[in-house]
Amino acid sequence: MTAKLIKGTEIREEILEEITKEVQEIKEKHGVVPGLVTILVGSSPASISYVTLKIKTAHRVGFTEVQDDQPVDISEADLLALIDKYNNDDSINGILVQLPLPKHIDEKKVLNAIDPDKDVDGFHPVNVGRLMIGGDEVKFPPCTPFGIQEMIIRAGVETSGAEVVVVGRSNIVGKPIANMMVQKGPGANSTVTIVHTRTKDLAAHCQRADILIVAAGVPDLVKPEWIKPGACVIDVGVNRVGEKISEKTGKTIAILKGDVDFDAAKEIAGYITPVPGGVGPMTITMLMLNTLKSLKFKLGLM
Ligand code: NAD
Repeated sequence: MTAKLIKGTEIREEILEEITKEVQEIKEKHGVVPGLVTILVGSSPASISYVTLKIKTAHRVGFTEVQDDQPVDISEADLLALIDKYNNDDSINGILVQLPLPKHIDEKKVLNAIDPDKDVDGFHPVNVGRLMIGGDEVKFPPCTPFGIQEMIIRAGVETSGAEVVVVGRSNIVGKPIANMMVQKGPGANSTVTIVHTRTKDLAAHCQRADILIVAAGVPDLVKPEWIKPGACVIDVGVNRVGEKISEKTGKTIAILKGDVDFDAAKEIAGYITPVPGGVGPMTITMLMLNTLKSLKFKLGLM
């Protein structure tokens, strides 16, 4: 069997089109567009490239975007004051603080200072709690798990009653996606198992999975014989395993590999996400959706 590819690059385009259309409609009816601020402290090249992509995407869908660059030696108090300013700015619906922050700043303190109603990353404890309660309580699911669930839904994979096995228990992927899949509702109602480094028989758990979600950060961790024939395999892992010269640009680029042995797995699975081009493009896409949702909550449209 050759698995159906679930391409994040294609789903991203669909969702960004939908967001753009909705932003236009809201602008016509209510005279406002979503506002997103990205706070970047320092000038790490990786952080700059993430922020640039977020700003570019926000611009594409018609948001007002503010890029607020701060020096690497900004004090914690000044950064907290800046967040407070945006918390009280009516034109801003989403606040992003690009991580990591310099060592002299307490990351947790900064993230917790963001108004939960503008926390479009979904990392504030209030939003983590809302996600756990589920249903109408949920405001901003964290973007990578939100993207994973959306991919499963749009691929038409049945989740109700499905055995879902999540490899990894991080706060940004493993735990939230497990929590989302177990809730009542569309794209969920699953029976969920989380496995991790202390799990006794990883293979046996994975072999039961109708939907296998792997977020471990270990290249080729999941072997083809761990996959149930016809299963949906979502590979979240992004591992740099070397470098190559890009045929398009002639520049040196990273060779990326997922957590699943893709070439072998695609012959067994029913659905599979590639790396790159699978889950990766979904994260920023869902960040845009969360920012749009933030404005809709404010306008009473949700
Ligand atoms: P993390 O390191 O915080 O967590 C990894 C988890 O995997 C841990 O809970 C650990 O117990 C588990 N794990 C590690 N090795 C294991 C093993 N051998 N057997 C069983 N469990 C094992 O990582 P994370 O932040 O959740 O990210 C996981 C992967 O997903 C990374 O490759 C990361 O780059 C990628 N990621 C991609 C996106 C995206 O595409 N948008 C977003 C977030 C993370």
